[in-house]
Amino acid sequence: MSENVYEIAILGRAIWQLHSLNNEGTVGNVTEPRSVRIIDPNTKKAVTTDGVSGEMLKHIHTEIMWALDDKNNLCDACKVLNPEKFNFAIKTKKVTAKDVEDALKQALEKCDICDVQGFLLERPTASRKSTIEFGWALGIPEVYRDIHTHARHALGEKGRGSRGQENEEETEGASTQMVYHRPTRSGVYAVISVFQPWRIGLNEARQSKYTYDTDDSARERRYKLALKAYQLLFARPEGAMTTTRLPHVEGFNGVIVYSTEPMPVPVISPLKDDYVTEIKTIAESLDSSLKVIKFDSIADFATKIGRLTNNKPYKMEF
Ligand SMILES: [Zn+2]
Repeated sequence: MSENVYEIAILGRAIWQLHSLNNEGTVGNVTEPRSVRIIDPNTKKAVTTDGVSGEMLKHIHTEIMWALDDKNNLCDACKVLNPEKFNFAIKTKKVTAKDVEDALKQALEKCDICDVQGFLLERPTASRKSTIEFGWALGIPEVYRDIHTHARHALGEKGRGSRGQENEEETEGASTQMVYHRPTRSGVYAVISVFQPWRIGLNEARQSKYTYDTDDSARERRYKLALKAYQLLFARPEGAMTTTRLPHVEGFNGVIVYSTEPMPVPVISPLKDDYVTEIKTIAESLDSSLKVIKFDSIADFATKIGRLTNNKPYKMEF
């Protein structure tokens, strides 16, 4: 029997080698990796570790959804991945909305990405809260970091025997040799994400009554699309500097937690060594509608999260 899915949490440890998915920025000719300060839950000591922001992971998830989607199911802004989403359509007067409720109604009716990923409206001021949430991916101490030194050369000087040069995109326009420094990291990253299928198509702007402003077939399509994007996300992380630092993706293990009745799924950080045991204990003590599925590789994760596409998104009665 296929059960309806209320919420899904993905908690796991991903192994990324020699990547540079997220950086602080560039000072002079040195690019600094993104650093965050955390308390290591296993040693209780403050440590500086490596981070990939939730924004970056959500951006990757959105791009995969966009690639998989039939573009007829997107608003004009999302067709070209404009980060303003439906706000852009209103700002440029491609659509007119009477009020906040109407603006959200139109967005939910029209666009797979606006509905699932959320957006902000300037005028009328409103927000569509995303149905997908990501925390920072945090390097489980110890992440190995290196700064590599590269040289770029003017086009005319290429092939004149300077061994070890890298053909970076920025080569064009450089008139003389220039040295620059780029970071890479290798490590195990704690990843957390929550997906709320029950909110797909739900217009929460109306104060008198919540309504689903999307038909069931569109809700199911969006649900499947979001899960497919998760399937690919851990096999194909496309963040910063992937032109020459495409991450070596090796592993992903953890748990998928989902509920089949209205119940927020518990989230425990995979920074903790015993997070799987803890999640299982919480699930057992709560309700039988809470399920915990373990996975031990990228393929295993893709298979198991893929099975949930046979279910339907939960629909709340109001
Ligand atoms: Zn859109």
